[in-house]
Amino acid sequence: MAINLNKRISTQELKSGKTVVLAGWAQDVKFLGKLAFIILRDREGLAQLVATKEFKDLKKIKSISRESVLAIEGEVKDSKSRAFKKEIKITKLEVLNKANPLPMELAEGAAEEETRLKYRFLDLRKLRMKNNMILRHKIIKAIRDYFDKQGFLEIETPCIAKSTPEGARDFLIPSRVQKGKFYALPQSPQIFKQLLMVAGMEKYFQIARCFRDEDMRSDRQIEFTQLDVELSFADEEMVYKCTEESVANVFKEAMDVKIKTPLPQMKYEEAMRRFGSDKPDIRFGYELQPASAIEPAIKEKRVKAIVVDKQLSEADLHELAATAQTYKAKGLYVLKGSKLQVYKRLGKPSEIKVSSASISKLRKSLKAKEKDLILLASEEEYSRGSTPLGQVRITLAKQLKLIKPGVWKLLWVTEFPMFEWKEEEKRWVASHHPFTQPNPEHVKYMKTMPEKVLSRAYDLVLNGTELGGGSIRIHNAELQSKVFDALKISKKDAERKFGFLLNAFKYGAPPHGGIALGLDRFVALLAGEDSIREVMAFPKNKAAEDPMMASPDEVSKDALWELGIAKLPK
Ligand code: ASP
Repeated sequence: MAINLNKRISTQELKSGKTVVLAGWAQDVKFLGKLAFIILRDREGLAQLVATKEFKDLKKIKSISRESVLAIEGEVKDSKSRAFKKEIKITKLEVLNKANPLPMELAEGAAEEETRLKYRFLDLRKLRMKNNMILRHKIIKAIRDYFDKQGFLEIETPCIAKSTPEGARDFLIPSRVQKGKFYALPQSPQIFKQLLMVAGMEKYFQIARCFRDEDMRSDRQIEFTQLDVELSFADEEMVYKCTEESVANVFKEAMDVKIKTPLPQMKYEEAMRRFGSDKPDIRFGYELQPASAIEPAIKEKRVKAIVVDKQLSEADLHELAATAQTYKAKGLYVLKGSKLQVYKRLGKPSEIKVSSASISKLRKSLKAKEKDLILLASEEEYSRGSTPLGQVRITLAKQLKLIKPGVWKLLWVTEFPMFEWKEEEKRWVASHHPFTQPNPEHVKYMKTMPEKVLSRAYDLVLNGTELGGGSIRIHNAELQSKVFDALKISKKDAERKFGFLLNAFKYGAPPHGGIALGLDRFVALLAGEDSIREVMAFPKNKAAEDPMMASPDEVSKDALWELGIAKLPK
């Protein structure tokens, strides 16, 4: 009689003396004298199965290939093996499906990423990947539970939509019905969630899929998931409260870690000044200090310093210089005793003449001891939210092993500048997005001194990584037009792109604000993974391809013609 799979229990529910049915994958099959051992894996874990000589069909066991699917019936016994407390003496065995020889090894680290992605259905069988999927599920559940309890509604918004203003490139979908016209996949549900506020939904959240046609990095995918939130009648504190409580709930439910709320807040200006970063890692010190005393000697402006009370090797200093240069510094100046040298990524450091008076002035202002090493760089130029020395500080922390595992430091960074100068376009662009409300007291500078305008935007930072950000929005059509003017978005363009939102604002838009957190990044941080690909079931590779499905793929000329984007094939 066939084994009754309805009676199946998991490998983690074994009780000695019971007859049980198990089913899963044959992770390993071994023979020891007259005994055969099978390690059976199901989603919950592993179990050791034993076939003794009473089990007549050893031939059947010999035919089991690795990763074949089995069902067994047997008796649970206490085991003497080191790895298993119990084992199951097989009385019945069925091979439900025999696996071919595997195209990749399932041991951790055994296969290249390309192979892992090509055979993702096998890769996900690995314990680490399975645990990542379980963690992701727990995190999403904790989020949903929290927002549900707080009276938020989860509302789905369309994926086939129109361009949204997050500043990335859109994915376009040609319309078959209206030839020559295109939909866009949303870069975020931003406009929809604001419309939901106008519609009176008051408290919205969504585990939302977003699409941005950007180059891939370890923490970027063209398709990713956000926790998206919007609240009516809200100020910053209300957004902070629900966000940090939901994050603390995730830590509690998924990690058994207690996060103290309310979280600390730091203005953008202070974050840049003390940490050289708009996402400061506050797990360690080594803060940046002004070092103007050295400026005449090195002929650079806005020089800052980090005082290091530990030894660094020449290789370390070259690595720090490379970091500084990547973030636009000319080089890294290093003061050892009375010797000032400039280090570059490559080559020998060169010495710079400096008077002993300037050196003692510098040391005094930095409260540095004679034996301390001083790292200096100009902070005049920088890229991607981090100054050269801000990034040197991060590399230094790795070199000096300053970061202890299991420490979670969250904070809000607030009052970001409203606009950023985009040299390539020779215009101001919105630092967050054009719906962000400027600080009301700064509206008067919008035309003349946009660099002075701060916004009501905020970011949530976890261990030096931006978890997400949001803002209090503009809810009045007049102020919105002023911001479009400052951004040099013409009336016609604004009307074509966001006319429907501006129009909606005329019919009773409540004050509102919200936030979005990058869920993949959040899961990756909690899982201790460097790449978000490790916490997504089916990610794309670095070339934005899926090697398993072979997407993107070519399509026939006929299909293109039908969509109105190619001529009729001859
Ligand atoms: N829509 C924004 C983003 O995706 C977040 C927000 O402002 O709520 O970054």
